[in-house]
Amino acid sequence: MAPQPQGEIRDTCIDFEAIEAINAEIRPYLHRLVKTFFFRNVKVDLYKQCEMWNSEASCFQPSCIVQPLDDELVPDSWKASTVDSPDSNPFGKKLLARRPIPEFNDKDFVVVSDETYGDGIWVDLQANPERFTGYAGPAANRVWESIYSDNCFGVAPYLQNAVGGWGNQHTGLDGKDEPFVTPPHNRAKLIEFLEDLSEEDLATPFSPQEVPLEIRSFYRVISGFHASVSTHICYKYLNHTTGNWEKNLDCFISKIGAYPDRLQNIYFNYVILLRSLNKMSNLLLKTNYATGHPKEDKLTLRILKGTNKAASSFNENKLFVGSDRELLKDEFKSNFRNISRIMDCTGCEKCRLWGKTQTTGLGTAMKSLFSYPEKAFKRGATSVNFKRNEIVSLINTFHQFSTSIKAIGAFREMYQGILDDY
Ligand code: FAD
Repeated sequence: MAPQPQGEIRDTCIDFEAIEAINAEIRPYLHRLVKTFFFRNVKVDLYKQCEMWNSEASCFQPSCIVQPLDDELVPDSWKASTVDSPDSNPFGKKLLARRPIPEFNDKDFVVVSDETYGDGIWVDLQANPERFTGYAGPAANRVWESIYSDNCFGVAPYLQNAVGGWGNQHTGLDGKDEPFVTPPHNRAKLIEFLEDLSEEDLATPFSPQEVPLEIRSFYRVISGFHASVSTHICYKYLNHTTGNWEKNLDCFISKIGAYPDRLQNIYFNYVILLRSLNKMSNLLLKTNYATGHPKEDKLTLRILKGTNKAASSFNENKLFVGSDRELLKDEFKSNFRNISRIMDCTGCEKCRLWGKTQTTGLGTAMKSLFSYPEKAFKRGATSVNFKRNEIVSLINTFHQFSTSIKAIGAFREMYQGILDDY
């Protein structure tokens, strides 16, 4: 198992110890915030057809099934029929459009249905925690494989040489045929290549022989998400002998602990979420949570104060600056939207629920970082456009990563205890 990570988290301006300290401070408030009515309930389209392949549910265990929220508990103000006053919309002017809203707009990094008009069921996230479900095997592996492999960056022809053996032609924006990077058949080789890049490699702007920071960050976000899901599985693992939910150190070591890069990518995602909340603080603080609970506002305030400590933890302005920035950003967005679609192919309801919630949360963070300048948030809710479920997903995703950081500490202690006893 990797030792306690130390020093600066790669591609960020903050170190592991600082993140753990911030997490210890923020977590109690975050933990209470996600239990509030506003933040625990969300509408999710769990039964959308998988667009990628012929997928059927492969986990019918009770542990995989989502318990829906009783519709009567959903406030009228969250439903379409009664949404008629601009005052009831806390997150942006366009939420109240009376026509169905498209699945995404140009600023979005995920496909996210609208709670007021879209299909879906209301779910209490607290009643359906992310933990071991038993969903595994080829069906689950295929979803992860597709997440890593089916999202190619056409502006990265140099990768073809770097990882070898794939590539064909596609028509570029100018109508000419260009080299096109198709999914890497040798993913391990690609990962190895990306992880071996030095800071110097990334310091200079994108040129045909280098992997841009954006592509590397994209990979790190999904690997960190994957590692966080695995951490939750091992942290709340069903002991089949006792029937109890327990921490499973072997599970953690085999899935995450033995891979320092996976561990580090969890922290990387945490930093991105932290920076996003910091950037959005003005909007989040001025939000009327519509359920009218001042206590929730107080918790939010405490969390946002904590994010101030990490205001400069991540500099999003370093990304999308090269000559290919627009193309790269479009590809980044479309690839991430693709991942949110792949979530529909997850054959276990509860895994799909948390998969969709967390890709929406991460997509919301990226939208806040890359689609709006800082000053847009200072002007308040009218200059940005976020749906209620994007904000709820963002907070819950932050909480999931916060739990992962806490779990890493707990596993580290367990491991140390074994070493001490040896
Ligand atoms: P997997 O986790 O399936 O990984 C497949 C391969 O990917 C590994 O062999 C490894 O080569 C590589 N890999 C693994 N981790 C990383 C990483 N962090 N970065 C880069 N590469 C990596 N199961 C549950 O019990 N509860 C859940 O809530 C749950 N949610 C899920 C959500 C989604 C969206 C998906 C697709 C699956 C979910 N699963 C869940 C299943 C779970 O993630 C694993 O697929 C399952 O436990 C089998 O694990 P595995 O060891 O075969 O490897």
